[in-house]
Amino acid sequence: MAQLRPRIGVMGGTFDPIHHGHLVAASEAAAELGLDEVVFAPTGQPSFKQHQDVSPAEHRYLMTVIATASNPQFTVSRVDVDRAGLTYTVDTLRDLREARPEADVFFVTGADAIEQILRWKDAAELFTMAHFVAVTRPGHTMSVAGLPADRVSVLEIPALAISSTDVRARARAGKPVWYLVPDGVVQYIGKHGLYRGQDHE
Ligand code: ATP
Ligand code: MG
Repeated sequence: MAQLRPRIGVMGGTFDPIHHGHLVAASEAAAELGLDEVVFAPTGQPSFKQHQDVSPAEHRYLMTVIATASNPQFTVSRVDVDRAGLTYTVDTLRDLREARPEADVFFVTGADAIEQILRWKDAAELFTMAHFVAVTRPGHTMSVAGLPADRVSVLEIPALAISSTDVRARARAGKPVWYLVPDGVVQYIGKHGLYRGQDHE
């Protein structure tokens, strides 16, 4: 008997820290596209100097695990965290497809990111590896001109004007971040003193 191929969403991001905008986008993509699972893939630790201000990958990975633990459809992958060097989406998709050859892959990403997609490493190959789901976020209008229409969908998600940049700035200024990120992530940030100064532990 023919079995339906599982449909797996992949949500890539720095997740420094993961926030409710990410979680709502993943949940909405799962519901709208009938995904069986959404795999969150935190990026590796960039080795370039201009990215010195990114928290260590292990902290970002653990916050992502904490934030997604209660949702049976959400999982977290270490493929990018464990790969040396910069994270490229083509490598993320290659590794995840190798691990899950039976699945159809949907790469969920912000409209801001997908507009840059043609500049990404191995852009043409990307569209053969996954269907791309561009989630709109507040302040970004979406243009899919020049992208293959059958491989890209645009998904409007409830406007949550939350960004990791804002969460970090609030934490640094001693302002509350409750309700912008999951409770466990608020506690993790406090426990490890993340975003307090210029440098990370
Ligand atoms: P930063 O402010 O550090 O850039 P971020 O909030 O954009 O962080 P990322 O880890 O860069 O978070 O985001 C991962 C993906 O989630 C990106 O594709 C981004 O466009 C998308 N995204 C982030 N915030 C939202 C949001 N509030 N609504 C919808 N999508 C979002
Ligand atoms: Mg961003």
